[in-house]
This record gives sequence, structure tokens and C-alpha cells, in this order.
Amino acid sequence: MSISIADEQLRAHALDLLIRLLKIDTTNPPGNEIEAVRLLDAELRAAGLEPIILESDPGRGNIVARLKGTGEKRPLLLTAHLDVVEAEPESWKYPPFSAELAEGCVWGRGAIDMKNHAAMSVAILCRLAREGVVPKRDLIFAGVADEEAGCRKGSLFLCEEHRELVEAEYAIGEGGGFNIYIGGKSFFTIQVAEKGVLWLRARVKGEPGHGSMPREDSAVVKMSEAIAKLGREGMPIKPPQAFIDFVGAIAGSQSKAAGAILPKLLHPRVAPALTRLLPDPSMKRALAAMMGNTASPTVVRAGNKTNVIPGVAEFEIDGRIVPGDTVDDFLRELRAVLGPEVELEILHSLPPVVERDGTELHELIREVMNEVEPESPVIPYMLPGFTDAKAFTSIGAKWIGFSPVKMPKDIRFADLFHGHNERIPVDGFEFGTNVLAEVVTRFIV
Ligand SMILES: [Zn+2]
Repeated sequence: MSISIADEQLRAHALDLLIRLLKIDTTNPPGNEIEAVRLLDAELRAAGLEPIILESDPGRGNIVARLKGTGEKRPLLLTAHLDVVEAEPESWKYPPFSAELAEGCVWGRGAIDMKNHAAMSVAILCRLAREGVVPKRDLIFAGVADEEAGCRKGSLFLCEEHRELVEAEYAIGEGGGFNIYIGGKSFFTIQVAEKGVLWLRARVKGEPGHGSMPREDSAVVKMSEAIAKLGREGMPIKPPQAFIDFVGAIAGSQSKAAGAILPKLLHPRVAPALTRLLPDPSMKRALAAMMGNTASPTVVRAGNKTNVIPGVAEFEIDGRIVPGDTVDDFLRELRAVLGPEVELEILHSLPPVVERDGTELHELIREVMNEVEPESPVIPYMLPGFTDAKAFTSIGAKWIGFSPVKMPKDIRFADLFHGHNERIPVDGFEFGTNVLAEVVTRFIV
């Protein structure tokens, strides 16, 4: 059976849903995702579905809906977090919860991260239900709370306490699907891996003393030296497979000269100099974050009196682990940079996610993208941050980071993500709705 639901009616419904979702303030904390959940619940019910609302805490709403299939194949899950990060209205051109339609875009916190995916997914589910489609695999939608603060009240809660509702063979969520421009050429990303998290407390001890008599070996001086060294040297470069594949895919479709330079990014000794040459600082940081483990010093604490040299100084490190490395591998590298005087304590850790490219769903996405956008190759991508993938892969789903949206050259996805003036081009959103509808229907029907 072949059906296409990628039409005007679907696009209009998705856009309407997006606008209504953006008008609901789900800034986390406190989140208050329940309001967005109620809106989606009403939509899904009107299409004949029977969604389930699950609150992990009062106001922390999650919603799961299922379009029943024949069970011939295992389910496909579409998932989006409904919370957003804070927005400072004074820095925005249009108020962040106005969902203003201006300059060809819908403006609002969550427009690309990721109420767009929630709106598209729910519109697709509603449409398939209205058409009376009985797919060969169940199609599940999970709208979740709390991703921006670590997933505890959202995807982790669902996977740990209501596993049977969200278990699926594949999950499509955030982490890729947007296009990036490299060497003037557009590429669409699919997230195939994401880094792990390792948050640490570092402690340095030294001789305490009176502030009137400075000491070279004070805890504060030693801590500052360790932080400065970490900032200057960083962690060793050792590109993971996901980055090697990323570079290979880009190099293959560049001019001869650029295609020859790119693979040098994989060489630990040449890479730092080469990235330094890049004119674009945000691109420079993004590439550097993909080339190995990273450690950012963030919180610093020492002393509480101006005239007392404290005996202890502490700082916190936001560490991110490349797929393939363990916590011990990371700690070994970090100790080599910080030196033996710095003690490390683990505060929080989440493992990296790796999904080999080349599953049937990756292939199908490439097939659809090749039909609609033959000029923009699809490339595998590793996200330096984390997503709900950590929760859903822990119960066996294969994660496909693919929330399709087409961005024009002058609006960069990476700058809007958690940035001021987050917005989505209406035509880029409609493009994404069509692509997702095609991918989903071909995969499940
Ligand atoms: Zn997000």
C-alpha cells in the first residue's frame, strides 16, 4: 500500500499546532509542560486516538499516544521534549512566547528545539488516524518533560516506570535533520552518535596562611594553574569513528582542494592548527568538540575571607566523553593534564550513545532526502550535547536524530539553538513536515 499524506492540509495543521505550542511558556525550570500536554491530548483525541497523560510531578506532564498497527514489525517512536530553555525577552526582536509570524519565520523559544518536531509528529499521527491507516508497525508519539534539565522528569521517568508504553525498535528525535553549510554547500545531518556526560568536582589542597604573606603553593594558586593549563591545552585530539565518517562524507562532495585538506582534520598533530585557521569561531568550537573528549571548567570556589589564604580550592568540570571511551579513559586523560595534585570526584555521568549509520531507517531517510533535495547530501553527525536518546536507547531503541528542517544560508541553526531570536522559517518547517511524513509513512505502512 502506498499513501502520501504530505499535502497542504497536513502542513497547515502542523503549522497551527506549532504556533499554539510556542505560545505556551514551558521554560524549564519549572517546566509546567502539562499545558502543552493538554493541547496535544485534545488534538489527538479529536483524531480518534486515546493518548495517556503521565505526570512525573505536579505540572511535569508527559504524553504518549499510539496508532495501533498489525504488529508485523516492532513500533516506531516519534519523540519530542516539550520544555524549553530560558529566554531573555529584552534581547529578542519579537517576544519569545508570542509565536509571531514575521520575516518568513515563526519566532519563539522552542521553534527549532523542539516544538517543531512535536507539532509535525502529532499532525502526522492525527492524519494517519483520520485516514484509518493500519500500519505494519505501531506508531507511537511521546511528548516528554524535562529534557533541558537532564531528562529525569521526562524520558528517564517514562523509560524506567512506563517502559511498556514507549518501547520501540526505532526512535526518531532531535540531534540532526537540520542542514549545515560547509564550503558554501548544504548538507543534511542525521545524528548517529552523541557524547556522554561526566560532571566532576576537582579539589586542590595547599598550605593555608595569612593573606599578608603570599604563598606560591596555596590552593588557589595551584587551582588557577591547573585551570589555565586545561584551558590552554584541552584534552587530547582523537577523533571517534562518528567524526571520521562525518569528515569523510563532507570531503567526498567538496572541490578537489578542500576534499584533500579535510581528512587532515583527523590527524591529531595537524588538526589543531587547521581548525585554528577556520574563519568562523562557532564552527571552530563545534568541530573541536567532535574531535575528542572535552572538559570545561565551570564553577569555581575557594576561600571566604580576603585576608585568609584558604587550604582548599575547588572547581567543577563539565566533561563530555566520546563514544568508545569509558569514564576511566576520560579520567586518565584529564589527570594527565591537571597533574597529580588535583583530586577528582564524580558528580554525575551518562554514557555516550552510538548508533551505527546504515540501518534500514537511515537508508530510507537518504532515499527520501535524495528525492526532495538531491543537491544536499545526508551526512552522519555526532552531537556534542545530550538528548532523550540516552533514555530511549537504554531500553533498546535505535535512535535516529532526525528532526528535519531546512534553513536558509543566512540563518544558522547552531546560533538559534538556545540563543536569542530562536525562529523557524515557515517554508523550512513545511519542508520538514513533508519529509517526516514521507519517511514515517513509507516506514510503517
Ligand atoms: Zn532539545
